[in-house]
Amino acid sequence: MITASPGARITPPVAPDWRQLWRDAVTDGHELLGLLGLGHLSDRLPAEDAGFALRAPRGFVARMRPGDERDPLLLQVLPQLAELDEVPGFVADAVGDMAAREAQGVLHKYEGRALLIASGSCAINCRYCFRRHFPYGEEMAAAGQWRQALDHVGQDKSINELILSGGDPLALATSKLEELSRGLADLPHITRLRIHTRLPVVLPERIDAAFVDWLRSLTLQKVVVLHANHANEFDDTVDAACARLRDAGATLLNQSVLLRGINDSANALTALSERMFAAGVLPYYLHQLDRVQGAAHFEVADAEAISLVEQMRSRLPGYLVPKLVREVGGDPSKRPL
Ligand SMILES: *Cc1c(COP(=O)(O)O)cnc(C)c1O
Ligand code: SF4
Repeated sequence: MITASPGARITPPVAPDWRQLWRDAVTDGHELLGLLGLGHLSDRLPAEDAGFALRAPRGFVARMRPGDERDPLLLQVLPQLAELDEVPGFVADAVGDMAAREAQGVLHKYEGRALLIASGSCAINCRYCFRRHFPYGEEMAAAGQWRQALDHVGQDKSINELILSGGDPLALATSKLEELSRGLADLPHITRLRIHTRLPVVLPERIDAAFVDWLRSLTLQKVVVLHANHANEFDDTVDAACARLRDAGATLLNQSVLLRGINDSANALTALSERMFAAGVLPYYLHQLDRVQGAAHFEVADAEAISLVEQMRSRLPGYLVPKLVREVGGDPSKRPL
């Protein structure tokens, strides 16, 4: 209980609004390097951004180690000259998403699950991401376009799980998510809602009271699949966001991408599993990189990937070992390695 002397003004601590923090992200490579005491590396920044700008929320930058040019969080967001290399086999639509498109913003590749591209925006731009080439402008189911996507999902009674993906679906205002869940109320064959999002990790403030209230109010089963690639991505603020999500009734899973120079060691992967479980999150997938143009320098060979997961298996309980998979266009599921 806070008491105040007469006339004193009490300003309760107000958590900064997530949209403000979103807009305030670091978008300049020179600034980012300067913040980390690495300004002398500025001449290594590519002159052009290859069509995919630098973007990292300041809270995420705060988890980077100053003075460390190999920092595993920095390397996920810092543009590299290697992105400009043309490497055979690394193409714009690496997972055949355009072929799986069934209606505006709906991808239906796997039995029982439809994936809705709910937003084209992300709070962070991950250099290895397929999103650098996806024509989101045309494919978003967001805003006024829920209807067409939901009509499609409504007509196919074999679908019981709706997956919100993107971009990052939590880029949408909670009021937009409420619109979606009102539409879902008319579709009784949808029993599960899954949300694939990197925001609880990169901008945990997004998991605010209004969002938690919305999530809790859903009568559907709820799964939130986070995306963290390194133990250092977790801190108190991420732990608290995870606790809020679990408290709202969500099962928490994590998917990672195996990335050269970032998490390609048994130590890093083991620490990641341990750290996420401390936050109440279970590992789900460890993805082999999608072979997108500009990301070849992140690739880890399959044989090495398999060996890394074998080492994890010998060091961790089974439930902390992710499934190593690759996404292959036309396959009926992610392909286990
Ligand atoms: C990855 C993916 C899913 C989900 O696959 P799970 O193996 O259930 O996680 C669903 N639809 C599309 C289009 C996907 O790319
Ligand atoms: S879709 Fe995910 S991996 Fe890709 S840029 Fe957005 S947050 Fe990063």
